[in-house]
Amino acid sequence: MVAGSNPAAPTRLKYMKENPIIIIGGGLQGLATANALIDRGEEVLVLERSSGVATQTSFANAGMLTPSQAAPWNSMADIVSILSGIGKKDSPMLLKLDQVPSLFFWGLRFLFNSSKSKYRSNTENICKLAQHSLELTKQIREKYGFDYDHSTVGTMKIFRDESSFHKASKEVKRLSDLGLTFRVLTNQEVVEQEPLLRDVSNKISGGIIFPDDETGDAYKFCKELETAIREKGGRIHVNTEVKKILFNKKKVNSVITNRVELKASRVILTSGSWTSSLLKNTRLNLPVKPVKGYSLTLDTSFLSDAPKMPIIDEGIHTAFTPLGYSLRVAGTAEFAGFNDNIHKKRIDYLYKTLESIYPSIAANLDLDKGALWYGFRPMSPDGMPYIGPTKLSGLYINTGHGHSGWTLAMGSADVLADLMIKKQPKIEVNPFLASRAV
Ligand SMILES: Cc1cc2nc3c(=O)[nH]c(=O)nc-3n(C[C@H](O)[C@H](O)[C@H](O)COP(=O)(O)OP(=O)(O)OC[C@H]3O[C@@H](n4cnc5c(N)ncnc54)[C@H](O)[C@@H]3O)c2cc1C
Repeated sequence: MVAGSNPAAPTRLKYMKENPIIIIGGGLQGLATANALIDRGEEVLVLERSSGVATQTSFANAGMLTPSQAAPWNSMADIVSILSGIGKKDSPMLLKLDQVPSLFFWGLRFLFNSSKSKYRSNTENICKLAQHSLELTKQIREKYGFDYDHSTVGTMKIFRDESSFHKASKEVKRLSDLGLTFRVLTNQEVVEQEPLLRDVSNKISGGIIFPDDETGDAYKFCKELETAIREKGGRIHVNTEVKKILFNKKKVNSVITNRVELKASRVILTSGSWTSSLLKNTRLNLPVKPVKGYSLTLDTSFLSDAPKMPIIDEGIHTAFTPLGYSLRVAGTAEFAGFNDNIHKKRIDYLYKTLESIYPSIAANLDLDKGALWYGFRPMSPDGMPYIGPTKLSGLYINTGHGHSGWTLAMGSADVLADLMIKKQPKIEVNPFLASRAV
């Protein structure tokens, strides 16, 4: 149809301008969702309470885009690690005793999803979403020439004990049925992939390389996405905190911010770990809990030889990611609520892990000059995000991506945008639907 030949079109355009889809939260999920909706001809308004986009959990994560790491944290090994970390500030996974009551029902669901069959099917679902997501991340990078210190050399997982190496090598074969490519490596082959590991080769049992994984700086990606969204006519208001969403007969009516009340008929919650607080005046009970993690970003520009291969040290839940002229060490998981304290023991833990993998580099880097950061992973009890409409008309959700929110962002947004325009999403969506909780 020729533009303008539909007499109703200008009216719809005016309606859309006056009634944009309101997206609450300008992190990875909010921006990816805004972009996906604009590309489907929708008008969007992102409301972000911070002074800029992606200043919270999407700021300095480990930078891994890894369908290979689709497994949720419900494995028996993880549960043992969480339980053995009760009260221990230097363990990779810490559960604070005072959080146990508030985590009780969430914890029951978490345990329910740790059965072998649930764990397997959840892993497969997340893997499919992650592959779709990575493909869309590549597409947008190529389309707009996004620059975010990305690398396409893949990622390598290393193991420090024989039994976890053998177990992982067996497990990963299942994912090859989903099209995941990988190669199991001896410790010598691990060193061939990343020669700087030679100092510790005798402590490594083996590794697995995933050539299709990518890495990149999530914050830089978000800034590129912000520019693209604004250029396409999307609006992003920072310093705008949503205080409440008002409903009329179970239908979204308006959004009250620290500045104004905005009429709204469609609202999307992409507010990460803070999403539940926006549902307090509803009967919806979204089981998303904050799981705190830290990162330390170190300047490596002056080193003659810096690491090139992104590495995941599975046993200690730590990632080592070269990003441009820096190296980011990220990991640890604290089930400690919204706790803004920076525990020295957690930082010491990151230092120690760096020393244990790259001793010569750690000796040359000024660890005290590293940029320290923490964020709150929005974690669902089954490890899968909540995407789609809720029981309240006009209210949608895209959150709960836990430790994989960078990997899953573009795919989750694509799924939600398709659902909202009543188009069949490109992957099976049932496992992710928000209606399984709200
Ligand atoms: C240490 C660490 C390492 C990680 N590593 C990886 C990795 O390697 N790969 C990977 O895939 N994922 C990783 N993650 C996970 C990933 O970073 C998160 O899943 C992702 O950033 C979540 O994005 P989000 O948009 O849901 O949340 P956020 O980025 O937190 O965005 C939510 C936004 O909502 C805003 N907001 C909240 N309430 C309101 C309100 N009332 N009004 C207005 N705005 C509001 C907040 O200010 C915030 O900006 C890691 C996380 C951590 C902590």
